[in-house]
Amino acid sequence: MPHQSLCVIIPVLNEERMIGPLAEALFPVLEGTGLDWSVLFVDDGSTDGTMAGIRALAAGNPRVKALSFSRNFGKEQAMAAGLRAADADAVILMDADLQHPPAAIPAFVAQWKAGAQIVYGQRGNREADSFMRRATSDAFHAVYGAMAGGRLPRGIVDFVLLDRAAVAAMNRLDERARFTKGMFAWIGFRAAVVPFDSPDRLIGETRFNYLKLLRFALDGIASFSTLPLRMWTYIGGTISLLALIYAAYFLIKTLLFHTDVPGFPSIIVSIMFFSGVQLLSLGIIGEYVGRIFEEVKRRPLYIVAETVGMEAPAEIAPDKAPDA
Ligand code: UDP
Ligand code: MG
Repeated sequence: MPHQSLCVIIPVLNEERMIGPLAEALFPVLEGTGLDWSVLFVDDGSTDGTMAGIRALAAGNPRVKALSFSRNFGKEQAMAAGLRAADADAVILMDADLQHPPAAIPAFVAQWKAGAQIVYGQRGNREADSFMRRATSDAFHAVYGAMAGGRLPRGIVDFVLLDRAAVAAMNRLDERARFTKGMFAWIGFRAAVVPFDSPDRLIGETRFNYLKLLRFALDGIASFSTLPLRMWTYIGGTISLLALIYAAYFLIKTLLFHTDVPGFPSIIVSIMFFSGVQLLSLGIIGEYVGRIFEEVKRRPLYIVAETVGMEAPAEIAPDKAPDA
């Protein structure tokens, strides 16, 4: 495998004020690696001047490329688009807000040259996050680890280098509910880790609120584990067994002694408890059925509306579409 070209993929959503500072910090570092570098912005349906900024940047620099979605499809989709469009010997995925410091890139490249095929950035400091965000993130990792087999390296974020083979493997995973971190771990390959410290977001706010993070966490668990579905077999089995024992107890009690009719509260409590359990299990089945529905529709992951500095994909250049 050659180690000559490197493409940095950056998903952007309404980051107009970040484009300048990002280019200023990133480009000299890439120049310093001595590689044939390029930067691919994936605009995830920004509604501000992000694309104008990128076009201006690309006008003066042929190493800058971009593709722009027709609307906001989400960061996971933007990363998928970048991985499909890049054709360098290695790619790096990073955020636009400089929370993934460009200064760490030479360490990624060194690990790659030393033979790693996936290099994970691992956040050392987490002081930049709120207590709540840290607590919910820890809780998620604990649940995910228990259910999906604990294959997710701790503290890794979407700051990752992938070599050609790993990118090709990622591009074969065509699912709609995308939990990219889990997918990195799933494809395997020789991995290495680069620790880095993440500063505060320089400009603007995080684009992820707790509801978005919860949906993402459910995606992560549902796409890598069927335990939430299967566990009802055991829960249901245990409850039925307990009910049988209870029934036997009543039978014997009635035969030996006499029938009495107390226990109204316990009936109400058990009805409410077991209808709760049933609704919960139905809801979990619903989570999976909903995802199956999303998958079988086989819609494209994203729609590209514009490209800068690169060839337009088939969907916006219909004359180039392959014959069906
Ligand atoms: N982003 C995106 N689409 C989205 C949300 C975010 O492309 O729907 C980009 C955003 O522009 C940034 C990166 O993903 O480059 C990380 O976003 P953010 O900093 O808001 O996330 P956090 O650092 O809080 O995880
Ligand atoms: Mg950020």
